[in-house]
Amino acid sequence: MDAKKKLLLGILAVVVVVLFVYFVLPEKSVTTYFIEAKYNDEVKVVEANQTVKYVNNTGSSLKEVYFHLYPNAFKSETSLPFTKEELSFVYPEGFEPGFIEIEKVTINGLPADYTLMEPNDEILKLTLPREIKKGESINIKIKYKVKIPPAKSRFGYGKNTVQLGNWYPVLSVYDKNGWNNDPYYIFGDPFYSDVANYRVEIVVPERFIVASTGEEKEKKVEKGSKKLVLEANKVRDFAIVMSDKFKVAEATVDGINIRSYYLTDGYGDKTLKFASDAIRFYNEYIGKYPYKTYSVVETDFYLGGMEYPQLVMISKDLYNKANLFNLEYVIAHETAHQWWYAVVGNNQIRESWLDEGLTEYSTLLYIERYYGKATAEEIYRLVIERGFNKFLSNSLDTSFAKTLADFKEWQEYTNIVYNKGAMVFYNLRKLIGEENFRKVLQTYYEKYKYKIATTQDLIDVVDSVTGKDTGGFFQSWFY
Ligand SMILES: [Zn+2]
Repeated sequence: MDAKKKLLLGILAVVVVVLFVYFVLPEKSVTTYFIEAKYNDEVKVVEANQTVKYVNNTGSSLKEVYFHLYPNAFKSETSLPFTKEELSFVYPEGFEPGFIEIEKVTINGLPADYTLMEPNDEILKLTLPREIKKGESINIKIKYKVKIPPAKSRFGYGKNTVQLGNWYPVLSVYDKNGWNNDPYYIFGDPFYSDVANYRVEIVVPERFIVASTGEEKEKKVEKGSKKLVLEANKVRDFAIVMSDKFKVAEATVDGINIRSYYLTDGYGDKTLKFASDAIRFYNEYIGKYPYKTYSVVETDFYLGGMEYPQLVMISKDLYNKANLFNLEYVIAHETAHQWWYAVVGNNQIRESWLDEGLTEYSTLLYIERYYGKATAEEIYRLVIERGFNKFLSNSLDTSFAKTLADFKEWQEYTNIVYNKGAMVFYNLRKLIGEENFRKVLQTYYEKYKYKIATTQDLIDVVDSVTGKDTGGFFQSWFY
């Protein structure tokens, strides 16, 4: 071998090692969920075997690991995550329980010691056979059965669709406060999770069309049923909505496959356009959406919309002429959550204002882009600012320093978290100027992609972009 060849081979070897270290190794440090599920439509039950390869990225040694069992909030009428006024909308046919039943748990192949914790068995606690050190991983297998309730909610079914939101055991987050084992609160989106890789194999009746997080990798049809292999990388959650009535409209925007799963005739193209416009605008204004597909799904859902990674549930009640602008607004809002919640995560229990405020203000930016500054300003003045000021005149405490457990009514939550949250960003943009504001959103997005950000992280980004101390500005809004 001559010297030149040797040199070339040497360079090649270095490149391979560098690529391995930068691209292959980090993937290994992501927790993976492998779920094999079978849905029985007659009894509305999902039976599943779930293998979690949990990687201890907490920075500490662990003796226990916790999972949320959100379906257990639907077990009894006293534990439901709804207000009394909402019940008749959520359960139009009357209450029936929904729940998750844990049948067996093993850790690294051996039967595990586990307990279900209060309230309502919503937390699964696993005591590990031996401590796992930071960076170490373990294999956790959970066999369970999920009973879906007749609820027009994130988890439940209605006349048209079956919603599997927050339906499987999902790991609690371990952060500087330790394990976050909050129950399913009534107000807000009480979910807080780390990104993970997913492979979900689900068997459904052949007639069902399935919308989900991730991408479909395989489809096998056999004797009236259909097995789908779905995969998603670096997502915070995995949601599914299915129906035997769905029609699908599709488009490609910036290489992203956008889908509208719809039930109401005439609304496929409309909702597809709203979703496409939203993805196109946020891509350009904030930064590129990292996933390959995004689905907007018409759902038997009682309240506006709900965000999941790569999938949003939109209430069927909005798919009509009278609500067309609302429908666009809700789709623009839930799509903005793909940036603020799905990609950049935050603790939605302790700092719900962070993703909601940013999402609501991003929606106004969308309105400004497609309807002009005057329309966006009008919505800001008449809906957001006026709504908040009216609330302020009757309320002494509008502080952001609340967890979801502290809110007492929807009005309080909406005004403080959405309206006041959006007002912070409206005024921040005025304070630092358009160019800096845009740079703040882009920097915050890039820096906290797939991570958990805090209010302080956002303030630090603002300060680093502007070169100023804006702590006082934020303080004035916080209390
Ligand atoms: Zn929202």
